[in-house]
Amino acid sequence: MKSGIKVKFWGVRGSIPTPGVKYVKYGGNTSCVEILLPNNMLFIFDAGTGIRELGNSLLKNGKKQKVYIFLSHFHWDHIQGLPFFMPSYQEGNEINILGMNTKETRLDKIISNQMESVYFPVRLQSLKAKIKFQILTEGKLCIDDATINTIYTNHPGMSMGYVITIGKTKIGYFTDNEIVPIPLWSEDTSSLKYQLDMTTKMLALLRDADLLIHDAQYTTEEYKHKVGWGHSSIPEVVSLAMEARVKRLALFHHDPDRFDDHIDVLVANCKEVLNDLPLECFAAHEGMEIHF
Ligand SMILES: [Zn+2]
Repeated sequence: MKSGIKVKFWGVRGSIPTPGVKYVKYGGNTSCVEILLPNNMLFIFDAGTGIRELGNSLLKNGKKQKVYIFLSHFHWDHIQGLPFFMPSYQEGNEINILGMNTKETRLDKIISNQMESVYFPVRLQSLKAKIKFQILTEGKLCIDDATINTIYTNHPGMSMGYVITIGKTKIGYFTDNEIVPIPLWSEDTSSLKYQLDMTTKMLALLRDADLLIHDAQYTTEEYKHKVGWGHSSIPEVVSLAMEARVKRLALFHHDPDRFDDHIDVLVANCKEVLNDLPLECFAAHEGMEIHF
């Protein structure tokens, strides 16, 4: 049954923006995904360079905006677009920024630091919209009709994964997550137990999800040389999605060296392996919309 949820990809690239003719099909903007709820409440996952176009599109409708921006973590490719999100510059808008603290720094400080004059000409304090911060830890929060489960994931310095449930629709957003038994941010590097707990938690939260958006930066061969970098190989992601009985898997956070034709080949390989198994696998591209 359609519940009127729209998912739209505004940026799908990992690590760094990749303009150029070899990236036209999938796009070169970094991570940004919109989830528009049936009552028009707007959730945005990550503020990579893709958020600029999203912000511009919001201005066109001329209405006052109240948006929730959930950040996975603070590596450049996930926050670089935030100072270019034009609704922040308009009085009457409300921009809620949600994310974790790091060990050293609070969420609000991290974001205001990004707009210090050495990096950017406009200070956070100068923005005309009301900017609110909400610090997240692992757990659960409810916003309007949506329930959002949060879980720390496996990335240097930590990242946060989200499972959003709206009515009967469940969507997972897990970027920058390495699905292997190496806790990249734990003091105890032998902590296999933690990783097992994390995988168990992820599988439980994602069980029967309608859509999983997951970091799929590497091929198996590439991954051999990038262990501990905090990203997953495509076969690992497909296995996890199968185990959780996810219905649709969007490969996301494409490697900056991955040209369009190579992504096509990787997707074709996935489809061949999955054959008639009940998992629809595809690569997310800029502008792609999925409706529930
Ligand atoms: Zn990233």
